[in-house]
Amino acid sequence: MAAHRELAKDMDLFHFEEHSPGMVFWHPQGLRLFRSIEDFMRQVYQAREFEEVRSPVALNRSLWERSRHWEKFRQGMFVVGSVEADTDDESALSVISPDYALKPMSCPAHIAIYQSRKRSYREIPMRLMEFGICHRNELSGTLSGCMRLRQFVQDDAHIFCRESDVHSEISNFLNTVQQVYAAFGYDRFSLQISLRPSQRLGSDRLWERAESLLIEVVQSLGHNYKLAPNEGAFYGPKLEISLEDRLGRSWQCGTIQVDFNLPQVFELAFVNELGELERPVMLHQAILGSFERWIGILLEHCGGFLPIWAAPTQIAIASISDKAFDWAETIFVSLKQLGVRVELDNRERTIGKKIRELILRKIPSIAIVGEQEALNQTLNLRRNGGGSVEQLEMNLAQLERELAHSASAPNFPC
Ligand SMILES: [Zn+2]
Repeated sequence: MAAHRELAKDMDLFHFEEHSPGMVFWHPQGLRLFRSIEDFMRQVYQAREFEEVRSPVALNRSLWERSRHWEKFRQGMFVVGSVEADTDDESALSVISPDYALKPMSCPAHIAIYQSRKRSYREIPMRLMEFGICHRNELSGTLSGCMRLRQFVQDDAHIFCRESDVHSEISNFLNTVQQVYAAFGYDRFSLQISLRPSQRLGSDRLWERAESLLIEVVQSLGHNYKLAPNEGAFYGPKLEISLEDRLGRSWQCGTIQVDFNLPQVFELAFVNELGELERPVMLHQAILGSFERWIGILLEHCGGFLPIWAAPTQIAIASISDKAFDWAETIFVSLKQLGVRVELDNRERTIGKKIRELILRKIPSIAIVGEQEALNQTLNLRRNGGGSVEQLEMNLAQLERELAHSASAPNFPC
């Protein structure tokens, strides 16, 4: 079993079922982890002036045909039929031809939001983002824990801008990626520019323009990169960011893509300063990519001992004997009031057993209290993970100060 799946079992985060291959069943602790990352990313996108949207999971085939996903990506989509009542016999239902597909990405939905009314240059760049539920019909043999799934949530974002904005948008994106990755403990990453694939949309002239623009921006920002022919998206070249984990493995997560083609196919426009219609460029971007995969990589990177701000349970209060129950409860209540994700272990069992269990569950810190600590109104804080174990005595006010700093998500810009 992949390491992240074993950790997920020990930490009671999620599991898989044979009847839903490639789809995650999130448990309460797992969803807390998911939400803490989502909240952090929401703050990141807000700071970068993206507006959050939400669009349907199933979209009509006509839209996929127009976006060319039907033609270029159909084998990767879940196609579904709608059920309609028979006009003569209302109790009889029949499935009519498969005319919907579950979205593999949110691009056409965000295009629909852009096109819902006339746009002006004052709204450009328009930045939309969604924690989009995506489905991809991956072959069952290729599914692997969280690393390759059929259903996942993606931080799926699109920028509608002018060609002259592309440089600053990509520069902002790369700065953001660096800061976000650092907040999760990753400090090494590499870049790849993926060029036109054989199955593609649009003229070579537009591809030429998109590719040279992307290469020029990345070069001018002084980054090293590798070129990958044939690996671009069917609508445009991609800049892909791979992070390096603690085991030296490389994972492609973030991406930004320059697209001149879908704006043309969908005839996107805005009214410019001269009152004329102008076509925007579309940038497709994701910072984490699939949340589930991100969590799988992160679990393996930190051996389960997550950064405290993301951990589903941030601290546990473990009492040594019943003489410390009241004091343990006082600590628990006051941390809970501060918004810390805290647990209380006042069960009648040895402290050794309690600590072993909490460590197996990868709880990042444990406050241990016995009779002496109850008398002195202190606690012993044990910090787990990071290769070494620290233990130090402090009072409740000191613990609260420490958690006020470490238990909330890093402020962005970091
Ligand atoms: Zn897109």
